[in-house]
Amino acid sequence: MALWQCPQCGLEQEARCKPKKCPACDEQVTFEKKQEENGKKSK
Ligand SMILES: [Zn+2]
Repeated sequence: MALWQCPQCGLEQEARCKPKKCPACDEQVTFEKKQEENGKKSK
């Protein structure tokens, strides 16, 4: 699972895939990946 954040309202959502729609904004936004499950930072 990854953590995604809405660039518009800052809502954080956990999902395997990038959410297509923000439930708070109620519109399509481009979620940004915030964090990964393993937190590994290679390369
Ligand atoms: Zn939002």
